Amino acid sequence: MARRRWEPLHRSLCAVSIHEPQLRSGRRLAAADAPADPHTNTALGLAGRGIVYLVGAGPGDPDLLTLRAARLMGAAEVVVYDYLVSDEILRFVNPRAERIYAGKQQACHALSQDEINRLLVALARRGKRVLRLKGGDPFVFGRGGEEAEFLARHGVRFEVVPGVTSASGASAYAGIPLTHRDHSRAVVFVTGHLKDGTTDLDWPMLARPRQTVVIYMGVTRLAEICGELVAHGLDPATPAAVIERATTPRQRVVTAAVTSLPEVARAEGVKPPALIVIGEVVRVREALASVADAAAASPAMLAA
Ligand code: SAH
Repeated sequence: MARRRWEPLHRSLCAVSIHEPQLRSGRRLAAADAPADPHTNTALGLAGRGIVYLVGAGPGDPDLLTLRAARLMGAAEVVVYDYLVSDEILRFVNPRAERIYAGKQQACHALSQDEINRLLVALARRGKRVLRLKGGDPFVFGRGGEEAEFLARHGVRFEVVPGVTSASGASAYAGIPLTHRDHSRAVVFVTGHLKDGTTDLDWPMLARPRQTVVIYMGVTRLAEICGELVAHGLDPATPAAVIERATTPRQRVVTAAVTSLPEVARAEGVKPPALIVIGEVVRVREALASVADAAAASPAMLAA
């Protein structure tokens, strides 16, 4: 799906972010600033002049960056970024900033989590304004919590900037509402990939009716996940979707009943990054898809 409508906005924001490195309070970004911002860690005894911004870059479409993320990207001195952060997003980063790729696909880590933690502390202690850029939201399966804890333990100033989590982005761009009064009264976000490499989930809870289950990092275990849900009582006819590269020009949506989804996804060659959405809300896409897809293909909206 071609989604080109962000181009003009991207250019204008880029100019603002690079030439006006202002915080929302109006003060200029300076490494030696007192941590007066209410969203900044203001614990006593903080070491050094540096600061780490743990920033959510959203699911892919640069239009989904927050203004705060764009501003901080323009003012960063060093950026440490993950594989989910696309080149389109990185175009917002101050061109003079040092770039460090931290990686982190399931089997391929450029730096271990411990190395990333220590790198952030070392950079901040050198007085740097560090942008730790993550896909989606830093506190949703993004290890932002672990990094923030490490920074706090080492007395490093930090601030967390939320991003649009991929479940929200995928839901909007695929025409699948996460909740709907006719279909779903709860939404559950789970990871299909635990720290120890297993998928040990609370299957009876996930198999309950009238809720939406969104599974991050689950596409390589799709058959196991769908099989367990049905074995624990989920109606086999429950509609389900896999949304690959949501909100990017390469977004693909595959839908099927939960029992046939693994087969259909395999036939389509679906690969990570992708989200699995299971629940009656997936039916709503039938009514919304044609309009949503037409809007996605249209360059008109923001360019007007
Ligand atoms: N912090 C991120 C999640 C990181 S975990 C967030 O809030 O979205 C990585 C997983 O997120 C991927 O395996 C995939 O399941 C999901 N994901 C991230 N970006 C995605 C995208 N553009 N499309 C589909 N799934 C995505």
